[in-house]
Amino acid sequence: MIFRRIRAIFLIIILILIFFNIFQRFSFLKGDFISSKKVIVIDPGHGGKDSGTISVNNHYEKDINLEIAKKLYEKLMSMDYKVILTRETDEFVDNNYRADMANEKKARIFVSIHGNAIENNNSINGIQVLYYPNRKSTN
Ligand SMILES: [Zn+2]
Repeated sequence: MIFRRIRAIFLIIILILIFFNIFQRFSFLKGDFISSKKVIVIDPGHGGKDSGTISVNNHYEKDINLEIAKKLYEKLMSMDYKVILTRETDEFVDNNYRADMANEKKARIFVSIHGNAIENNNSINGIQVLYYPNRKSTN
């Protein structure tokens, strides 16, 4: 079961990296996005007392989320993006604080990484993308 979730998470990361590679290929977007140093906030879901879901092998979602977030952070930093993590260790971070941090830093993109599961239902797997479509531009 954990491998399905990890596979789904990797697919999400791949989609994010493809998204950024597309940005890099179009110089007009690159100039607009990178040179102005727009902030990307990466949010490793859960942490500390909030473990998130627990796999059949006793892996905590919070640990998997943090590992993936750190890899994504390194990749984006190597591509010269300005990146901020909402947590860097196994600590509890209030969801309101995460949102406040993204707003204070004027984040252009907020990516919250999770390895969600539906209790007692192993037949469902895949990618879940949640987004807020009506946000005004923060130029
Ligand atoms: Zn989660």
